[in-house]
Amino acid sequence: MKKHIAVYPGSFDPITYGHLDIIHRGLEVFDELIVAVARNSEKKGLFSVDERLEMIRQTVGDNPRLRVDTFEGLLVEYVVAQEARVILRGLRAVSDFEYEFQIAQMNHTVQEQVETLFMMTSVPYGYLSSSIVKEVASLQGPIDSFVPAAVKEALEKKFAPR
Ligand code: ADP
Repeated sequence: MKKHIAVYPGSFDPITYGHLDIIHRGLEVFDELIVAVARNSEKKGLFSVDERLEMIRQTVGDNPRLRVDTFEGLLVEYVVAQEARVILRGLRAVSDFEYEFQIAQMNHTVQEQVETLFMMTSVPYGYLSSSIVKEVASLQGPIDSFVPAAVKEALEKKFAPR
């Protein structure tokens, strides 16, 4: 039988419990999931791509059905090269919709056989984003309920008062 492989792309700068929730739920639906960190030169992150990959790997643990990778260039081309058919994205508030709608339509136009599927955020993570976490961390606020321990440590290091 053909394996159903999905790619879950994003910045993951850094990974949060919101992302992890989508990853765990994605693994319930697909045979294989590839978490793909975008190497996008225009979006300068707080963490380097290598740091983000390391944090994701530390957090997701070993699972033969889960791969952590990076991609450059057109997402749909990467998806096809991985023999995947699905781009998995998370949806939080209505505010995510407009942007996601545009990208999904563009991707479908460029590569018709690739479908974008959306998973609704779980209730506790509806307002959780990497940027909010970075903001709170930069103000030395508590971030335990947003990110796993390894990420918390990395954020505290970045924002340690000099
Ligand atoms: P991007 O820059 O591509 O939006 P992000 O790392 O911010 O990258 O997000 C990657 C994906 O994870 C997106 O589909 C985003 O909607 C989803 N996501 C992020 N945070 C949450 C959350 N709290 N609940 C559900 N989905 C989320």
